[in-house]
Amino acid sequence: MSGVVVLKTAEAVERTVASWRSRGHSISLVPTMGALHEGHLSLVSIARKRSKRVIVSIFVNPAQFGPDEDFSEYPRTFEEDREKLSRAGAHAIFLPDEHMIYPMGFSTSVLVSGLTESLCGRFRPGHFNGVTTVCAVLFGIVRPDIAVFGRKDAQQLTVIRRMVRDLHMRVQVVSGPVVREPDGLAMSSRNRYLRTEERRQSTALYRGLCKAAELVSDGERNADRIVGRAMEIIDSSPLVMVQYIELVDPFSLKPLLRMKRKGLLAVAASVGETRLIDNIMLGPEGAIEEE
Ligand code: AMP
Repeated sequence: MSGVVVLKTAEAVERTVASWRSRGHSISLVPTMGALHEGHLSLVSIARKRSKRVIVSIFVNPAQFGPDEDFSEYPRTFEEDREKLSRAGAHAIFLPDEHMIYPMGFSTSVLVSGLTESLCGRFRPGHFNGVTTVCAVLFGIVRPDIAVFGRKDAQQLTVIRRMVRDLHMRVQVVSGPVVREPDGLAMSSRNRYLRTEERRQSTALYRGLCKAAELVSDGERNADRIVGRAMEIIDSSPLVMVQYIELVDPFSLKPLLRMKRKGLLAVAASVGETRLIDNIMLGPEGAIEEE
């Protein structure tokens, strides 16, 4: 028997959350699209430390996929996900269907402008619009004290923080570090699409980011040279086709000409049919972890 309760409607979530609240429990939400891996589970573990009750949403959100993207192929592995969440100590899974989230006549969209046009936004028009809209809906249903997101999706995290700030949403956004495979590849539900040779070459992304961090720790400050060196490493893996690699200010996401106190080096690439993203936060001494 699985110890985690599965809730399919807003009403069921509201009832469960109300009963937790009546007992004085604080609540964290971890939004996901399922096909869970250690990266997702690390967020559950952070959520457990921060609050008494943890609810994980699993919803493959059609609004954040472009017409030529992998919405229909996106892995759906609910039974395994439930097992993993049960073992990880989550208390509830919110598993809505599309009509629950977007009922007939749904007409609202949350758009964070300025942060969503660059980086991934350039290659995935409308993507962040879908992300912020669904997160606003999820926050409205669950009303968590805390929402936990991974720094793997660094632009998404920046965009969500801005939405929460601008709309005075009463939720604290907490982030968790990028969880990686032993060879450095950032974990992703999409990694399972990679063929053997693609999977092998995909490690170039993190190797490139690490080389950039090394350069910065050696005192390099010029963005072109930092990015150029990372690009050289990645380019030596011919199956990894870079879409963008940029050093940006982590708050404004605007390009940096020179390394400042903090710089986010973000990369996206297509590897065969699969799109991968990764990033590293840089400080004056090289790579840094930050909350
Ligand atoms: P997804 O299911 O891909 O929408 O991701 C759900 C959440 O898990 C997001 O906050 C992601 O940033 C986070 N996440 C995905 N992969 C990782 C990873 N490798 N390390 C840390 N967080 C991750």
